[in-house]
Amino acid sequence: MANINTGAQDRTFDAIVIGSGISGGWAAKEFTEKGLKTLVLERGRDVKHLKDYPTTNMYPWEFKHRGQIPEAIKEEAPVVSRCYAFKEDAMHFFVKDKEHPYEQDKPFDWIRGYQVGGKSLLWARQTQRWSDYDFEGPARDGFAVDWPIRYADIAPWYSYVEKFVGISGNKDGLDNLPDGEFLPAMEMTAVEKYFQGFVSKNYKDRNVIYGRCAHLSEPQPIHIEQGRVKCQKRNLCQRGCPFGGYFSSNSSTLPWAEKTGNLTLRPDAVVHSIIYDEQKGKATGVRVVDAKTKETTEYYARVIFVNAAAINSNLILLNSTSSRFPQGLGNDSGVLGKYFAFHNYRATIYADYDGFMDVTTEGRRPTSAYIPRFRNVKKQETDFLRGYAAGFDTGRRKWNSQDGVGTSLKDQLFNEEMGNWYVGSHMMGETIPKEISQLTLDKAKKDEWGMPVIHINLGYDDNDEKMIKDFHEQMTEMYTKAGFTNIRTGDSKQAPGLDIHEMGGARMGKDPKTSVLNKWNQMHDVKNVFVTDGACMTSTSTQNPSLTYMALTARAVDYAVGQMKRGDL
Ligand SMILES: Cc1cc2nc3c(=O)[nH]c(=O)nc-3n(C[C@H](O)[C@H](O)[C@H](O)COP(=O)(O)OP(=O)(O)OC[C@H]3O[C@@H](n4cnc5c(N)ncnc54)[C@H](O)[C@@H]3O)c2cc1C
Ligand code: SF4
Repeated sequence: MANINTGAQDRTFDAIVIGSGISGGWAAKEFTEKGLKTLVLERGRDVKHLKDYPTTNMYPWEFKHRGQIPEAIKEEAPVVSRCYAFKEDAMHFFVKDKEHPYEQDKPFDWIRGYQVGGKSLLWARQTQRWSDYDFEGPARDGFAVDWPIRYADIAPWYSYVEKFVGISGNKDGLDNLPDGEFLPAMEMTAVEKYFQGFVSKNYKDRNVIYGRCAHLSEPQPIHIEQGRVKCQKRNLCQRGCPFGGYFSSNSSTLPWAEKTGNLTLRPDAVVHSIIYDEQKGKATGVRVVDAKTKETTEYYARVIFVNAAAINSNLILLNSTSSRFPQGLGNDSGVLGKYFAFHNYRATIYADYDGFMDVTTEGRRPTSAYIPRFRNVKKQETDFLRGYAAGFDTGRRKWNSQDGVGTSLKDQLFNEEMGNWYVGSHMMGETIPKEISQLTLDKAKKDEWGMPVIHINLGYDDNDEKMIKDFHEQMTEMYTKAGFTNIRTGDSKQAPGLDIHEMGGARMGKDPKTSVLNKWNQMHDVKNVFVTDGACMTSTSTQNPSLTYMALTARAVDYAVGQMKRGDL
């Protein structure tokens, strides 16, 4: 142990934020902009925008394995190597599985990026708002508990974060997928436009839209001020973007927070637990283990934001025990770690299209089309609860003959032949948070930093199987009617986790007996601790979740600072 009793003044801040990923970056920006001295604690190494993107400008032939992952590395990284983005150009932004053990009570692929910026460097940048149909879901369908907020509570905060992040999208006018503050959309392909027109003509409740994404299609002054410029559509985003064309904590919120002069960022700082003071009846700080030296230090603040990503935030809270909270911080309800859920990404469908042989795509585009949820939106209409959204991707097949040698081979390689169009969709299904789906701490096993190893007990249920069947049936019908041929449905049977949308465990709710957080993401039982990452989610709906974490974070900071000013925190 070191440092605990020395220089407490230097280790005291107005606010502490645990984690520097998408949600933690937002907490840092908001606190520092409002004038609070803020400490961001990040367990991973520092990654500075531009400077620490080693592969960003590399050509394919400069990679030792031409971008692919050798079998030996896959064997060493059995979990993270299953993620589609784990390639030679970005594998340095993923954890090494062996160094960070966890217990899979049921198979679970935990995809993590431990570094400044977290998974914001790696994400696919798909961003959709929730609507009231999503927030009202649990109350209407009778699963989980009622959300303590509705769309009207979060709508202004969606607008607030969207303007800063920069979201490319179309105003589609859908009540189940509210419009946002959009930069112009990029072009849709001929087949996407065809399917869009076909679906809107033939299905009154279904739509195909451009996939809204966090890319600067037309930067505004606020983005230029961040040092970011127009997205060049290179589609190499997971390397870190030299243009700041997509949103990440590294390109956007963290440098912004730094400019205020109020930010202290400590990389290599593993938060072990939150310190609770029984006399004061609140949290006073955090215990941190240095990732390299393993020294322990305490930091103090008036308010603490937990943004370590859903599973690690649960781990930290469950590990924060005291005689007042023997089962984990703020866990009077006993639900901490429970009602955990994810998105069901198992089902796919692919097909061909023989039309539009005179049209092709030019260049690249870092998004695809999107089919918003259409099942059980306004009323229960199937034998399963909730529904699914789907991606919709198209392209033209290309090939070149590789016969011959020398000049004739070269000529053939330069002369690509165009084939027909392919189309494909993958399901993004809501799963039901259940009490048995839970995270618990191992009583004996600890990791290198003295943190208990977490057990993840999460699986598919009958509802998920019925949803997969329905997705295959409905999409097959739509594809067939649209004239797509050679339709192939698939079920990857992948374990939960590869969706990388884990949520819950410290859910929001109206009743302190059945939830951990109130409508401001504030712990019912410990008023100066807030959780605003995926751990706070009462249910999962079908949308990609990160935009909602950002909006909830900005909203919660605004509330916390108001409370601090009034002397209530
Ligand atoms: C390949 C890929 C594609 C994705 N695509 C999308 C998408 O299209 N749309 C979407 O909405 N989402 C997408 N996601 C998910 C998205 O990245 C996450 O939802 C988002 O990053 C969560 O933000 P966060 O702040 O909760 O966590 P993170 O961004 O993961 O940040 C958490 C941070 O906390 C740190 N940390 C953890 N434990 C501790 C500790 N004990 N002490 C200190 N620090 C700690 C971590 O190192 C990390 O830096 C994708 C993710 C991946 C990997
Ligand atoms: S597609 Fe846009 S955001 Fe992605 S790497 Fe290229 S320029 Fe950057």
